[in-house]
Amino acid sequence: MEIKKAEFIASAAIPSQYPESGMPELVLLGRSNVGKSSFVNTIANNRKLAFIGSKPGKTRTINFYLINGRFYIVDLPGYGYAKVSMQEKDRWSESIETYLKSRIDNIAGAFMLLDIRHKPSEYDKLMWQWLRYYGVSTGFVAMKADKLNKSEVQEHLDMIKKEMEIPQGTDIILFSALTKQGKNDALMAIKEALEG
Ligand code: GDP
Repeated sequence: MEIKKAEFIASAAIPSQYPESGMPELVLLGRSNVGKSSFVNTIANNRKLAFIGSKPGKTRTINFYLINGRFYIVDLPGYGYAKVSMQEKDRWSESIETYLKSRIDNIAGAFMLLDIRHKPSEYDKLMWQWLRYYGVSTGFVAMKADKLNKSEVQEHLDMIKKEMEIPQGTDIILFSALTKQGKNDALMAIKEALEG
């Protein structure tokens, strides 16, 4: 799988702003600042495609990227930023659940992005619960792998598996936007999700 063309199509806050779609959609979920924008840019070989924010928690919209004219990568709002009000936290969770409900027939799969350095948050666990509830096939990506050394990596992967209750035999893709580690694994997982 190679990404030959990646187009930013829409930034949507409500369903009427979603693009029309008969195409499969792959969803990216992760706490704010985990590296979702960097993930999109790395796999699409396009440093300018997704805005890499210096201010976490500012992107509350759902961003749709059309890939190779064939499927969407849908970047859901980053959640769990500590400094936002309860009201804003409600807004992102509502926005994510509304998306999942209204596009469930289009969703071919989801990727949960987790910072390899940190314990998954309650929000990460809640999102994984929702994905299971809606029956969305889910892959896991451990982000910022360059921040740990080899022995720490395995230890942290085990911790994430345990905390998230990731089923035995499910691989976690080790990823770094800095070194591009895991780029091919991510593209392969995308291909598999699309082939269902
Ligand atoms: P988003 O809020 O999830 O979209 O996160 P961004 O892609 O904007 O990244 C947040 C910050 O983490 C930025 O400063 C990035 O440069 C940094 N970052 C993202 N991916 C990596 C990575 O793989 N390794 C390192 N070291 N930093 C990263």
